[in-house]
Amino acid sequence: MDQRRSELDRNTGTGTSLVTLYGEFTVTSNRKVRCSVTLTERDLVIQRLTSAPVGRNKVLLSLKDCVGCRAYRQDDNADPAAYLAAYFYPLKRRWMSSGVSRQRVEQSFRLAALQDPRANMEEAEKWAHAIRERSTRQQNRRDGVLMSELARPCRMMVLVNPQSGKGQALTLYNNHIQRMLNEAGVIHTLVITERQNHAREMMREADLSQWDALVIMSGDGLLYEVINGLLERSDWEEAIRTPLGILPGGSGNALAASIHYYSGASPVSSEELLVSCGFLLCKGLLSRMDLVSIHLSSSPRLFSFLSLAWGFVADVDIESEKYRHVGAARFTVGTLVRLASLRVYKGRLAYLPAAKNHNDEEDLRNNLTAHCNNHASSMTPAPLLCRPSRDSSCHNTFHNSCHSNNSLKVRRMETTPSRSASKSLPGPPDSLLLPLDQPLPTNWVVVPEEDFVLMLAMYQSHLAEDLLAAPEATLDDDVIHLFYVRAGISRAALLRLFLAMEKGAHLATNCQHLVYTKVRALRLEPYSPKGIITVDGEVVEYGPLQAEVHSGLSRLIAG
Ligand code: ADP
Ligand code: MG
Repeated sequence: MDQRRSELDRNTGTGTSLVTLYGEFTVTSNRKVRCSVTLTERDLVIQRLTSAPVGRNKVLLSLKDCVGCRAYRQDDNADPAAYLAAYFYPLKRRWMSSGVSRQRVEQSFRLAALQDPRANMEEAEKWAHAIRERSTRQQNRRDGVLMSELARPCRMMVLVNPQSGKGQALTLYNNHIQRMLNEAGVIHTLVITERQNHAREMMREADLSQWDALVIMSGDGLLYEVINGLLERSDWEEAIRTPLGILPGGSGNALAASIHYYSGASPVSSEELLVSCGFLLCKGLLSRMDLVSIHLSSSPRLFSFLSLAWGFVADVDIESEKYRHVGAARFTVGTLVRLASLRVYKGRLAYLPAAKNHNDEEDLRNNLTAHCNNHASSMTPAPLLCRPSRDSSCHNTFHNSCHSNNSLKVRRMETTPSRSASKSLPGPPDSLLLPLDQPLPTNWVVVPEEDFVLMLAMYQSHLAEDLLAAPEATLDDDVIHLFYVRAGISRAALLRLFLAMEKGAHLATNCQHLVYTKVRALRLEPYSPKGIITVDGEVVEYGPLQAEVHSGLSRLIAG
């Protein structure tokens, strides 16, 4: 046996000292096939001892790809054997393609060395424990940094929107996710949403102490509900620390595509993306995720994890709802339809550039504090002044108006929370924004153009499964990646941009109409009376708005 083991060590490149367990078992599916099983710190190595076709003698599985392992007995009392099953999702080359995707591999063994069923079971449990422990140890170190992970055993609430995407989220859960979570030993409760805002209401009331994680299986819209529900609670500070998970079950699966991209794997779509995200979920590694607070003219402040869009992208997102049945392809169809009726959107856009280093950041905040204090003395307390469009008036009731800063400003009768008032509302205070009615702080940049084709603020890499809008973005870079396209771009050039975006190559096209900059906060004042603004793909109140990034406010299971 020792001779065989050292031979195996030579073959696998592992030193004998790294071998932690060795055993000889039969394969569950065929008792005639015997194999040696070696557990090292990094791998599980299975070598067939019974002759087999050349090349299929040995299997080496990295523990990094293992989601779980369990020991069990079969119902048959006469059988003293115990069983051991380990579940792996290694990256494998796809059939007929150059890409790779995670594919399920189960290894299961029958342990029957002894007559005593309990002794066999103890041996199987020793193995299962050792495999689980090593696979956790393997994954938790990234470049020498210890990552935090979900508590085990872990209790998850899995929220499924049965209407999302092609209406297949529940089927996808049944076909893939239920099994994966069971393999990983995750105790989970399935909650099927009944209507829009159901999840948001549940999150406001839920006893969060019952859950180690809240998992969303839908498009991005359901996570948007969950995040806003959590931040509407009086205990928001703790609530928003609840680990969140995302599984692509909708037509707009941008966050799922983003975490897959951050994991370094090559692009995949639909069910392969689901398996990849399911794998990351089972691994349970936690990352911080930035959220962006968004102030609208009269709605309460809301929080966004993905994107803010106005113009072409927002119109496509909403107009393409009617093509939901084609799944993720709805955006391609929508883009082509909107291109045919390309139009210009007028407005004013301003932003606070992202500081290059920490000292700059301090300066920006001090500058704002000074600006606030100057204003406090000259300002009427907490009025909401809204800057209406040039060709319209605000749709609220007004009783006063004044001219300032070359634009008409109108004061509204009822007061809406300004920055100071918003401190009493749940959620973190904004430190970079002045109330929407006030002129911009002096260190903000006002975009010279007023004619746009689109404005897109991204805080994650993907805008849709196959649109890599912000290749540089990471989960918690504390940056809003701001893009805008100036009016004057041809239909062909805009189409080229979107085609290039599939690979994240749009910035390399040298399109003169596309501007990209990293910011901490922004303000948008559309001039036209009607239009669409979307936050995370959901329509919000149309009108002036501003946004500020909150670094790492939430936690996401993302690997
Ligand atoms: P998709 O990517 O397909 O758009 P989303 O998760 O974004 O999927 O969901 C679309 C919309 O459906 C969101 O506004 C969400 O709030 C809403 N929603 C959630 N649950 C339900 C439900 N049970 N029935 C109808 N709409 C729902
Ligand atoms: Mg959606």
